[in-house]
Amino acid sequence: MFNLQNYIGGELRAARSGEYLHNYEPATGAVYSRIPASGPADINDAVEAARAAFPGWAGMAARDRGAHMLRVAELVRQNLDRLAEAESRDNGKPVWLAREVDIPRASENFRFFGTAAEHFSSEAHQMADGSINYTLRRPVGIVGCISPWNLPLYLFTWKIAPALATGNCVVAKPSEITPTTAFLFSELCREAGLPPGVLNIVHGDGAGAGSAIVSHPEIKAISFTGGTATGKHIASTAAPMFKKLSLELGGKNATMVFADCDFERTVKETVRASFANQGEICLCGSRILVEESIYERYRDAFVAEVQKLTVGDPKEPTSRQGALVSEAHMQKVLDYIALAREEGGTILTGGKRVYPGGRCENGWFVAPTVIEGLGPRCRTNQEEIFGPVVTLQSFKNDDEAVANANSTQYGLAFSMWTESVHRAHGLARRLDCGIVWINTWLQRDLRTPFGGMKNSGVGREGGWEAMRFFTEAQNVCVGA
Ligand code: NAD
Repeated sequence: MFNLQNYIGGELRAARSGEYLHNYEPATGAVYSRIPASGPADINDAVEAARAAFPGWAGMAARDRGAHMLRVAELVRQNLDRLAEAESRDNGKPVWLAREVDIPRASENFRFFGTAAEHFSSEAHQMADGSINYTLRRPVGIVGCISPWNLPLYLFTWKIAPALATGNCVVAKPSEITPTTAFLFSELCREAGLPPGVLNIVHGDGAGAGSAIVSHPEIKAISFTGGTATGKHIASTAAPMFKKLSLELGGKNATMVFADCDFERTVKETVRASFANQGEICLCGSRILVEESIYERYRDAFVAEVQKLTVGDPKEPTSRQGALVSEAHMQKVLDYIALAREEGGTILTGGKRVYPGGRCENGWFVAPTVIEGLGPRCRTNQEEIFGPVVTLQSFKNDDEAVANANSTQYGLAFSMWTESVHRAHGLARRLDCGIVWINTWLQRDLRTPFGGMKNSGVGREGGWEAMRFFTEAQNVCVGA
């Protein structure tokens, strides 16, 4: 048992209250560390530290800010194994996945935005009489970054890096369910010599620490990733305070499989798109829509492939699926499987909790689950489950596929599998979602706009979009 600490003004310290929350290991169901239960007093301390650091950080040459960030990126890379093991222990995901995806990406986020700092530029508009307008991009000031538990360090750094690159000082809160890599990251920031107060990491839950960030009058922008209901709550506090808001919320993504797809590859890749990270990625496809003429063939091949996914100890390289993040989340997923049965669905594989035995006897594991026989309007096909559960539906033609894909309140990321580029190109712009993948999934270029339409969010992250979000545009007009 060990205690994590807040990182405020360059120092590591406990919450002012001296209180702690339990942190669990999903693979065993046991408590293994404690995190500071921070509240408004700790957020005030973090804001004070950020205020003191702001003039120096904002006034620093972009190149020097970038150099600080590159040092952090390098230390994350050097600590790959330690961070991957911590991420796996906290979240339940397999260590190999954290090593291949989460931690390299966290390092890459800091490298990418560290170099972007130097290349960021703004526009100029010349008028007919020779007058010129130029746009200044000033840092917003002190900004808040709040992140979820599914890709802990990956999404935490995805927000913090562009905020720092543009000269802001940050008060950040990781999910209380997966706090450990954020704590290890704060130690690495100290080692990298990041100036005190530039980044402050405050631990705690949403009601205690999160809402204190959102309602603090000196925090001028909030970048949030998490559930749609939480996003709505945050917006109701932040919008009347006229804060800038970037909200990356839930999804209910469609995977569209056409008869002319590259069949073997599609089966393999759509299994990954369904169950990577136990289905706990906002971009996972949870509704698979299959063209009628290949429905049975695809279904049988898909189920056979899913049955090969070994569920087990996240430490084992042979485990393709680890544990779900919490007991409450596992119960939510099992409740949705029960609902699917009530709604008339047939469970083709999975549908139950798994007990891998040994040290994982009491862990929170669920078998990858495939369901058929449900129409687009039922709750199972409308609500976000965010676990290892997918449904299969068939469609007759492109119009029906598009209508079904667009039929939920969400619009985050859809994938299409077809060898007809012409068809895919025509369909992409009819889909109401922020990201369309054609014959690929989760292929990320950090320069591209990232985010969702409808109830999947407001604003976009990534590349210049993120850099612009964290700046205030000021137009200066010089008369002729
Ligand atoms: P969540 O909304 O419960 O929590 C997210 C973060 O918000 C946590 O740090 C939490 O402590 C904090 N929080 C909770 N209540 C708060 C409040 N009132 N004020 C301020 N902060 C508060 O989400 P979660 O369960 O951690 O994550 C799962 C959700 O995140 C899913 O819906 C998933 O789709 C979504 N998600 C979206 C994206 C995306 O890019 N669109 C990426 C990953 C996850």
